[in-house]
Amino acid sequence: MTIENPELSSDESLPVVLQEMNEKGYKNSFYIHNSSLFCEKCKKSHDPKEAEVIEVHRFEGESNPDDESIVFGIQCKICNSKGTLVSAFGPSMSQGEAEVIRLLSDHRDKNKN
Ligand SMILES: [Zn+2]
Repeated sequence: MTIENPELSSDESLPVVLQEMNEKGYKNSFYIHNSSLFCEKCKKSHDPKEAEVIEVHRFEGESNPDDESIVFGIQCKICNSKGTLVSAFGPSMSQGEAEVIRLLSDHRDKNKN
């Protein structure tokens, strides 16, 4: 498995990256729900520790660096569809959501080696 563009994306905006990912086949969507990862296609929840994270993109907020967005390219282990999870870092983020983001980011770091 290859990790594409793991670094901070400074030259591309979030909509551009989402469009590119859509063209690469990330047609599905994932959501964070009750501290787990929810696949829109098969309507199943995943343990974020077990998620197949293929790529990660981070974006710093233009007006406020604390407003960071993160996009994960994930493949569902149940229905095998690839999709995106978009999340915004910030003070309004719930603890469950922050934990899922942390686990997904950790997962990516482990795969790098
Ligand atoms: Zn699925």
